Amino acid sequence: IFKPSRALSKVGPSAISRMMATTVDLQRQGRNIVGPHVGKPDFDTPENVIEAAIRAMRAGETHYTALDGSPAVKAAVQGKFARENGLDFTPDEIVVTTGAKMLLFSAFFATVQPGDEVILPAPYWVSYSDIVEMMGAKPIILPTRAEDGFRLQADDLERAITPNTRWLLINSPSNPTGAIYRKEDYGPILEVLERHPQVWFMVDDMYEHLIYKDEPFVTPAQLRPDLRNRILTVNGVSKAYAMTGRRIGYGGGPVPLMKAVRVVLSQSTSCTCSIAQAAAAEALNGPQDAVRRYRGEYRKRRELIMDELSTAPKLAYNSPDGTFYSFIDWRGYAGKKTPAGRILTDDEALCDYLLRDCGVAVIPGSSFGSPGYFRISFASAESVLREGMLRIRTGCTALS
Ligand code: PLP
Repeated sequence: IFKPSRALSKVGPSAISRMMATTVDLQRQGRNIVGPHVGKPDFDTPENVIEAAIRAMRAGETHYTALDGSPAVKAAVQGKFARENGLDFTPDEIVVTTGAKMLLFSAFFATVQPGDEVILPAPYWVSYSDIVEMMGAKPIILPTRAEDGFRLQADDLERAITPNTRWLLINSPSNPTGAIYRKEDYGPILEVLERHPQVWFMVDDMYEHLIYKDEPFVTPAQLRPDLRNRILTVNGVSKAYAMTGRRIGYGGGPVPLMKAVRVVLSQSTSCTCSIAQAAAAEALNGPQDAVRRYRGEYRKRRELIMDELSTAPKLAYNSPDGTFYSFIDWRGYAGKKTPAGRILTDDEALCDYLLRDCGVAVIPGSSFGSPGYFRISFASAESVLREGMLRIRTGCTALS
């Protein structure tokens, strides 16, 4: 008899993975499904990065490295933090992991236990709550409001903190809303945290380079150096450099935390792939024109999506300031009937209708803690986006 561990007792396949599995099934049956749902850049990795990986293989860099990254990749991360964020981490304060996800996982594994609470402003990236649940800790979901630009408000945070709160986790620019925290948004939040020394701050800057506004990107450790001894800054090369499969994430944080993370790594992944580390070092150190080119393309696609959405009268949306996602409020269609007679009672019913009856895959908002919404990704070719948006519009118009 198969018996899953206690860690898995509260974590099942998410709505997102169910949606992906159904999409693949339908495609196998020969159905034409367009999929503006996956958060995976469709560009190729920049040429200089590919060359660096080849060079590393030819140079025999195919062995274990130090478990928190080779000196070369750590130096590249150190340089990146100094240059782009004004953060002067020492090598001891840096780790390089198998994707940013492994760093998030390791940091929680190293610090939380049953009874602990982790504050997650919703909408949040799917994995945060599941990782926290796997540790037996409790995600405290704090809904944010569209009128606040989906940004956590300091008084909501203040009310949510208890003696058991261990972490606050913020992702900016946000997957799924595209919201960005500016200096004036982080300021009051950091003031609250200052008053509660038991609460540490995990910041996921994964989409730092995908910003469409002329505002400087800011990260909390840079704003409040005095609180740096309890801030973990997480980042990675997956999204900015179209390197999702290379599995390189990195972070900077206080030495005791990083030491604990290294213990987790030493008994799980060990180091991440040596060749991917060489590629990531080149991505961070080398020319950045590919990042600018990708951003330009995403910007065009974002405009396309916004134009298309403006013709679906009952869908409400904010224009995302960053990332390649658009988070769409579908509640204008709640309770409506599909041509086949199904009533749309919740976001999963809507997404199921769009997928099976209209041939377009999107992700239900409940995966992100916000069932009134669905997410589309514009990390897909323009033709996919145009066809996807046409199908969404046609599907919505057919509801009665
Ligand atoms: N953080 C956010 C907000 C993400 O959207 C993702 C990937 O979708 C990750 C982290 C994970 O990135 P990585 O590929 O480095 O594990």
